[in-house]
Formats: sequence, structure tokens, C-alpha cells
Amino acid sequence: MGTDSSGYLNKRLLKLQVGFLLSEGPGNSRAIPIHIPQRLNVDQDLYLESLSGNLTLTRTKEGILVQGTLRVHHLRECDRCLENYVHEFTVPLAELFAAPPDPNKCVFSVDSNGEIDLGHLLREEVIIEESYRAVCRDNCRGLSAESGVNLNCESDTAIDDSQDLGSYAAYDPRLSILKRLLDEKG
Ligand SMILES: [Zn+2]
Repeated sequence: MGTDSSGYLNKRLLKLQVGFLLSEGPGNSRAIPIHIPQRLNVDQDLYLESLSGNLTLTRTKEGILVQGTLRVHHLRECDRCLENYVHEFTVPLAELFAAPPDPNKCVFSVDSNGEIDLGHLLREEVIIEESYRAVCRDNCRGLSAESGVNLNCESDTAIDDSQDLGSYAAYDPRLSILKRLLDEKG
């Protein structure tokens, strides 16, 4: 159940029927909860592991205004260590879907079936968010230039000999003075 990584939900899920809102007239709005806890094909080659959040659709004179924030889980490859990791982030949305379509003013529009497709919009926002961040964690150590081994998997047990307390004390001049005083009393 739900563990088949080849299975995913269709991007049809990101099409919202807004015909009812168009007929209600300007000023009306609806809260639309988005909860897709499964792998989803958003648009073209973009898949998300999950998508959730709340959107508010508002009927304006120009069309349908989509506002809200969606939380995204996206499986990516780390630029440094090349391991897959899940990138989690939020995407703020504020976009007008024109009705009727107005290519001169608006990239997005309500289609002839009274639907808006969040897929293209979401894809654009994800690409922008991810254009400057592709490491699995801030301190990712990447791959060894010599062996190609993932340095995150290397153990941290190698201890620097210079930190050994015994040899440190031997070089502390205060200890040698103390020793001389003790010797003179003895
Ligand atoms: Zn990494």
C-alpha cells in the first residue's frame, strides 16, 4: 500500500473546477484545501512526493485570483554527494487566472471547461525555488575528489594526535616549574 515508487497520481488532480465561482460574481471566494500525500505528476517531467496547503480562490472582475501557500516535498539529487534527498519547502502562490482569457495581460486563464490548471503555475514556482538550492544539507561534505566516496558516509573517528592530553601536559612550562619546586623541598 502506497510503497510502489512507480505509481503516481495524475496531474488532472491539479485542475480545479471554478465555473461555479465565475457565475457567483466578483467578491465571492472559496477556501480550497489541497492534500495530496502521494507522488504526483505536476507537469511534464516534474513529480512531487506530496503537496499540501490551503488556497483561496477569489472571483474578481478579471477572473479567478488564486492565493495561498503550498508545502512541497520533492525528491532531488544533491549537487555535492549525488544522493537522492527530499527537498521540503513552501511555495507562495498569488496568480490571476483570467476569464475570459487575456493573453496580453495574463499568462494563465480559466479554460473553456471552466477549469484552472495549477500544474503549470506550480512547475514555474518550483523551478524558481530550486534554481539556487540543491544540497541535501548545509554541511554536506560531497564526494572525495580522489576516491569518489561519499564523505558523508565516512566515519568521524580519526583523532588528531596533537590533541592528546598527555603530550600537551609535557610541554606546559608551568608543570615543569611546579616539579622543580617540589624537588627542592624534597
Ligand atoms: Zn549531499
